[in-house]
Amino acid sequence: MANQTRGGLPFAPFRDENGRNSYHHPFPRYAPFDPYFRITPHRRAYTPRELLNGTIKAFYNRQDGGLNPLQVRARESLCVRYVLRSTAYAKGEHVAAGPGGDEARELVDDDVRFFAKQLDDFFFFGLLERYIMIETGLDVVGPDPAGLEDRIEAETTIVREASGNEYVRININTGRRDIASAGANAPTYELNDIIGRLMHEMIHAYFLIYACDCPKCERGLLNTTGLPNDGHGPVFLMLHRLIVSEIRRWGDAEHNDLAALLEHDCPDLSISLHSRWRANAAINNLTVLQRRNYTRLLPYSFSERHLVRITNTDRVAVRPNIKENQIRAENALHDRRSRAEAYRVDLLDNWLAYEVDEFDEDEADYDHAFDFEGEEDIIRVDTDAVEGGVGDPSVDPSRQGSGNRT
Ligand SMILES: [Zn+2]
Ligand SMILES: [Zn+2]
Repeated sequence: MANQTRGGLPFAPFRDENGRNSYHHPFPRYAPFDPYFRITPHRRAYTPRELLNGTIKAFYNRQDGGLNPLQVRARESLCVRYVLRSTAYAKGEHVAAGPGGDEARELVDDDVRFFAKQLDDFFFFGLLERYIMIETGLDVVGPDPAGLEDRIEAETTIVREASGNEYVRININTGRRDIASAGANAPTYELNDIIGRLMHEMIHAYFLIYACDCPKCERGLLNTTGLPNDGHGPVFLMLHRLIVSEIRRWGDAEHNDLAALLEHDCPDLSISLHSRWRANAAINNLTVLQRRNYTRLLPYSFSERHLVRITNTDRVAVRPNIKENQIRAENALHDRRSRAEAYRVDLLDNWLAYEVDEFDEDEADYDHAFDFEGEEDIIRVDTDAVEGGVGDPSVDPSRQGSGNRT
């Protein structure tokens, strides 16, 4: 791709000779109102921390007034469907053998895709949809690529087609065949487990699509998104935990079971225990030689300066100024937008009025309109004498002043 700049900053991602990113873009400007909530970030162009900070600005600790219209609708749709459908899960209605079994399974697959769309709109600016493919069903996930566990229930991978086309595939088990065929009571998993896994995999997908792939970022992976065959580094853990907290808030507000989302994996305010275990296990499995490819693993709480960090009690701490700065930026954008809007209305609605009162050059009293007072090179406009005031687009004082009069 050609490297192009606008005002010295690239607006298309810079790629090196290996096709890797070579410029760390700032996260796109965002505000929860038109047109700023529809952002178009570049693929693989942001450091993981930039991505984390930019992403949580849109939802962390926000009341409804601070959410964009897409988010409010997504949360409401998700909660409605959740209440309608959650009791049907883990009760065997959906994957029962015999007539209706296939139809019921399709309904489960449909639920997962529906929830994915809402989570995408709420947490990821609707940016995942065009890049991900979700496969659901009984035992659709293969063996653990890191070899750490006998069975895994979900997996996210990049698929590169021969055509060069690339997408992210998410596989999620909605139940397991051996239990279903045994006629046991719980052929599908609990809906909370499915939603918990889905949002977990969507975070992997988000980093795979948008986090920078430059050699420097790759060397730092242990302290950011984790090893390539793992993906559960501290930046993942932080975004994951903040999303869990937000979804639990929906449960609290609506009195549904979402309040208990991932309660065993993320007890109280803790980061995901299972994901952290996997991240450490994957690092411990590295050979000495492989380990040299990465910078030293730092304790999660190594930097107090970071805006978002994991504390030594395994919670996620977010510095208040990340929100304060965002609110300030949003207010400035809001002011600018309303001023632009007022000016546009002015032009449309009052244009005729301006034309009627247009400054009449022939009849103007120049002696009063321009006061020279001996300073021949300084031309001041007497605004009172100019119809429509200084802002009137029909009057160009500099042009008026340059005429050779008197
Ligand atoms: Zn994972
Ligand atoms: Zn990078």
